[in-house]
Amino acid sequence: MSAPLVIAIDGPSGSGKSSTSRGVASKLGLSYLDTGSMYRAVTWYMLEHGIDIHNGEAVAGALPKVSIQVGTDPQAPGIWVGDTDVSGPVRGPEVTSAVSVISAIPAVRAKLVEIQQQVAGDCGVGVVVEGRDIGTVVLPKATLKIYLTADGAARATRRAAEQGSDAQSTAQSLAARDIADSTRTVSPLEKADDAVVVDSTDMSLEQVVEHICEMAVNRRDN
Ligand code: C5P
Repeated sequence: MSAPLVIAIDGPSGSGKSSTSRGVASKLGLSYLDTGSMYRAVTWYMLEHGIDIHNGEAVAGALPKVSIQVGTDPQAPGIWVGDTDVSGPVRGPEVTSAVSVISAIPAVRAKLVEIQQQVAGDCGVGVVVEGRDIGTVVLPKATLKIYLTADGAARATRRAAEQGSDAQSTAQSLAARDIADSTRTVSPLEKADDAVVVDSTDMSLEQVVEHICEMAVNRRDN
C-alpha cells in the first residue's frame, strides 16, 4: 500500500485555499485540516477573556488554558475551544481583524504547530492541510506542496461575495493581513522552494481542484 498522501496548501487570504482544500480532500477521500481556524480559535479565546492581544507575555501566559479541538471532515470541519463550538464566532470581524497579531506570537505558533503535526500524523488516510507555513514549517516532507495565489482584486471580490461585505473595505482588510502575515519574523507566509504555484485568478474552483488532484495522484503513483 502506498504512503498516505499529504498535501500542503499555502497562500494569502482569499486565494481560495479553503474551498480548494476541502474540494481536493473530498475528491480524493482525504482528511482536511484548516490551520487558520486554529489561530482564529486562540484569538477568539483571548478576546473573550479580555487579554491584551498586543501583550505577547500575557497571551503566552494564557495559552496553557486554551484547549483546542479541530475537526478533519472536509464536509463539516468544525473547531472547539474547550466545549464551546466556535466555528461561527471565529469568522466574525473582531477575530479576523485581530488574528494576525496573535499568529505572530512565537508561543502561539509553537503550540499550534505541534497540534497540527499530531493531527496530520494521525490522519491515516492522508490529509490536505491549508495555511501559511504548512509547506515550509509544519509539514516540510509533504507529498505535494501548493502555493495558491490569485491577484488582489480577484481575491477581494471573492471574499466580499462570500461574506456579503463591501469590496473596497474587504480589499483593504485582505491587504493589511497579507502584509502582516508576510512580514512577521516567525514563519512568515512564503512559498516553499519545492511548492508548485497555482494562480487561480482565471480558473474556476472545479478547475483548480481538478488540477491539484491530478498532480497529487501523479506524485502518489510515481
Ligand atoms: O486562513 P485564514 O484566513 O483563516 O487564517 C487566519 C489567519 O491565521 C491568517 O491571516 C494568519 O495570520 C494566521 N495563519 C497563520 N499560519 C497558518 C494559518 C493561518 O499564521 N498556518
